[in-house]
Amino acid sequence: MEGSRLTEAVKRDIGAAVGGSCSTALEDRICYSFDATDIRGLPDIVVWAESRDQVVAVMKIASQARLPVVPRGAGTGYTGGSIPICGGIALSFEKMTCIVDVNVEARVAVVEPGVVNDDLRSTVERLGLMYPPDPASLKVSTIGGNVAEGAAGPRTVLYGTTRDYVVGLELVMMDGSIVRTGYLAGDSDVAWDPGPLIVGSEGTLSVVTSVALRLTDAPEVTRTYWAEFGSLDGAAAAVAMITADGMPVSVLEIMDGDTLACATEYVRGRAPDTRSEGALLIEVEGAADDIAGMWGRLQPLLEKCGATGCRAASDENERDEIWEIRRSISASLARLGTGKINEDIAVPRSRIPVFIAEMRRISAEVDLPILAFGHAGDGNLHVNIMLDRANQLHMVRARQAVSALFSAALELGGTLSGEHGIGITKAEHLAEELDEAALGVTAAVKRALDPSALLNPDKILSSRPNPWWDGLKAPSVGA
Ligand SMILES: Cc1cc2nc3c(=O)[nH]c(=O)nc-3n(C[C@H](O)[C@H](O)[C@H](O)COP(=O)(O)OP(=O)(O)OC[C@H]3O[C@@H](n4cnc5c(N)ncnc54)[C@H](O)[C@@H]3O)c2cc1C
Repeated sequence: MEGSRLTEAVKRDIGAAVGGSCSTALEDRICYSFDATDIRGLPDIVVWAESRDQVVAVMKIASQARLPVVPRGAGTGYTGGSIPICGGIALSFEKMTCIVDVNVEARVAVVEPGVVNDDLRSTVERLGLMYPPDPASLKVSTIGGNVAEGAAGPRTVLYGTTRDYVVGLELVMMDGSIVRTGYLAGDSDVAWDPGPLIVGSEGTLSVVTSVALRLTDAPEVTRTYWAEFGSLDGAAAAVAMITADGMPVSVLEIMDGDTLACATEYVRGRAPDTRSEGALLIEVEGAADDIAGMWGRLQPLLEKCGATGCRAASDENERDEIWEIRRSISASLARLGTGKINEDIAVPRSRIPVFIAEMRRISAEVDLPILAFGHAGDGNLHVNIMLDRANQLHMVRARQAVSALFSAALELGGTLSGEHGIGITKAEHLAEELDEAALGVTAAVKRALDPSALLNPDKILSSRPNPWWDGLKAPSVGA
C-alpha cells in the first residue's frame, strides 16, 4: 500500500472525534515517524487517544476514508512495528495510562495500553504482588506495545513471556467494532479465547484498548550471582549445563567480552570494573528453604565450565551493581558512536555454544565485529553487528551477516526473533521460518480480521524489502 491521503474534511472529523487531541504539524509527525530502528515513515496525522470511545470513532473515520492506522506505544520497537510506513494515522496511547484496577484476591490487574511496564510493576509490588514480564526497555515501553510484541525479558526463563500473563483483552477492530476476550469479557476461564491470537500480532489485527494481566506472588527470596569466564564458549557451556541441571534459575544472562568492556566502561564508578571474555548474570528465586543450598550447587558447575571469578551478591547494593552492568549494555553500545544492527535470534539453549561458534565464523567472513549478549536462559541472543551505516560496503556485509545469522539460527532449530517481532525488518525472511501452509493461515487471519488491510499495513506479511538495504549497490563481499 502506498502513500495515503488525508483530506481537510477527514482531518476535521478526526479532530472533532478526539476533542482536538491530534496534530498534522510536521514537527509532531516527525516525532512519530521512527522507533528504535533506523527506518522512517511519516504519518499524515498524529492522534493521542484518550479513551476507548475515541479509538472507536477514529477507526470508523479511518475505515471510511481508507486511511491506514498504526498503533503506537512508546516507539521502542526494534523491528519497525510502529512506523507509519504507508502514512496515515499514528495512533498514540501515551494518554491512556490508567491502571484501572488491581484485584489482589483474583491476582489480576486491568490497565490501559499506554501504562509503562515499570509503573505497573512498582504499583503491584507495593501490594506484595509481581508482574514478571520485564523487557530491558521496561522503564519506557508500554503494556500495549509489550502485548503487541509478546515481549520477553531476563525473567522469561522462569516466568514466561507477556503472552503467559494476558488473561483478557479489549480490542477495537479496524471497522470500529469492540471485542472483549477472557477476563474482560466476564470470563476468566474460557474454553475458547481469541486473545492469544492477538498477543504478538504487532498491531496488525486489532488495536488493544484494555488489558487484563495475571499477577503472581512476589518470591520469598532472590539470590544474584556473577560469573566470569576466560572465553565466551565457557559461559555458553555453563548455560547449557545449568539448564540441564534443572535448578530454578529466574535469570540467566550472557554477555561477551567486548560487550562487557563497553558496559563496565559506561557504568564506571557505579559498578565494579570487571573484564573477561564472557560473563553470566544468574538469579535463582523461590522459597527460602529451596534456595538455601543453591550457591553450593551452582559454583562447582560454573568452575567446571572454566569460570575464573564467581561471586554471590551479598546485599541489595551488590545486586544493583551487577544489574547496572546488564541494564547499561544497549546504551553503552550506542555510545560507541558507530552504528549497530541488533538482531534477536533464539536457539535451543543446548545449541548456544554451536551458534556462537557460527556467529564468530560469520563475523570473520564479513569482517565486521559482532557482539553478543542476551537472555541465554531462554536461548535468546542479541547479536549486534557493529558498523558504519554510511559505509556501503559495511551495509552489504551486514546484510550478508544478517542472512547468515538467521540461517544458522533456523538450522539449529531456532527462530528469527526471540522477542522483537517481525515488523518491517524481518518480513523478508519470514518465509525462511514458516512454510507455505503457515504463511497461508497467517494471511487468512489478517484478511478475516482486517479485510481492508488498513491496520498497520505492510508489516509481518509484506513483500517490501527491509529499507535498511535500500539503494545498496556496493560491490559484493570480498571485493
Ligand atoms: C534498549 C531496548 C531494550 C529492549 N529490550 C527488550 C527486551 O528485553 N525484551 C523485549 O521483548 N523487547 C525489548 N525491546 C523492544 C521493545 O521495547 C519491545 O518490543 C516493546 O514491547 C515495545 O513497546 P512499545 O510501547 O515501545 O511499543 P512500540 O514500539 O510503540 O510498538 C511496538 C508494536 O506494538 C504495536 N502496538 C503498540 N501499542 C499497541 C496497542 N495499544 N494496540 C495494538 N498494537 C499496539 C505497534 O503497532 C507496533 O507494532 C527493547 C528495546 C530497546 C530500545
